[in-house]
Amino acid sequence: MNKSKVAQSKILIIYTGGTIGMITDLETGALKPFDFNQITEEVPELKKIPYQLETLFFKEPIDSSNVEPETWLKIAGLIEENYCKYDGFVILHGSDTMAYSASALSFMLRNLDKPVVFTGSQLPIGVIRTDGKENLVTAIEIAGAKLNGKPIVPEVSVYFEYKLYRGNRTTKLNAEHFEAFESFDYPNLANAGINIDYNFGKILKPTNKPLQVYRNFNQNVAVLTLFPGITQGFVRHFFNAPDLKGVVLHTFGSGNALSRKWFLDELLRAIRNDIILFNVTQCKKGEVIQGRYETSKGLGKIGVVSGRDITLEAAVTKMMVVLGEQTETGKIKSALTQVFCGEMK
Ligand code: ASP
Repeated sequence: MNKSKVAQSKILIIYTGGTIGMITDLETGALKPFDFNQITEEVPELKKIPYQLETLFFKEPIDSSNVEPETWLKIAGLIEENYCKYDGFVILHGSDTMAYSASALSFMLRNLDKPVVFTGSQLPIGVIRTDGKENLVTAIEIAGAKLNGKPIVPEVSVYFEYKLYRGNRTTKLNAEHFEAFESFDYPNLANAGINIDYNFGKILKPTNKPLQVYRNFNQNVAVLTLFPGITQGFVRHFFNAPDLKGVVLHTFGSGNALSRKWFLDELLRAIRNDIILFNVTQCKKGEVIQGRYETSKGLGKIGVVSGRDITLEAAVTKMMVVLGEQTETGKIKSALTQVFCGEMK
């Protein structure tokens, strides 16, 4: 790596909330967000990083369970406003919905040519055994890392516990261990040990086009998780939700669903009401192959779109973005099938 180039990197850290910047409320014992300025006090190591660091923070930091499209618009807006001034961005965010936010931002920031690295922590940064310091310091290092003057990871990623993942491939799988995330169907973009070992062949290439920010979300999206014993009454009621436009059909195995006539009839009724169905497997690893089993053949035939190996988090946010952009059924389906930024095969 060219050290003199690395030393010039200018990084913007955006603190949105989450455990990394939380303290214990002495009265209630619950974790609550604290003034972001304390983060720099808590991590004096930041002063030793050979980059120029600047910080912005949400006036009211949020627990990531309260994230909504408004939050994504706020983050994307801050990145867009500051895009030319910085070489990379680190987004400090609660881990609970980080996979959703990283997915949403990956779909919003089209032609992204600079690193946007999400990170957070399982223990607050002020706690002695915190995982937050390493996550923050390495996320910053990655956001500013360049090779021949070009950013090494010009995409939306998640850094957690020595691993860098493609953001829209992540899932939070552990509420206790420091290793909170996994990317089941796509290799890590980097592994951090003594050195940061980048998986160059798996990182998206820059487009060299101007950044475009997509801002229209359609929130009339829902997830129908199948389970043995699901009733027709429930499925009918679900599809009757007002204004429903898109449904992630959360299916078994390689995209299988019950093959009972009533179920396919309910799906058909939904499709006739212009509701788009996106088939995503409940399995963490592997992909939807409609038609592999008898129990998924019917889905493809009636027009359910295969989500292949997309994660639930990426599927939900992709649907919101696609339904916000397109109104014609054919165009919506074809957009869902397209790969925007490495979110599926
Ligand atoms: N509840 C917290 C949040 O997602 C957990 C975390 O920060 O990791 O905001």
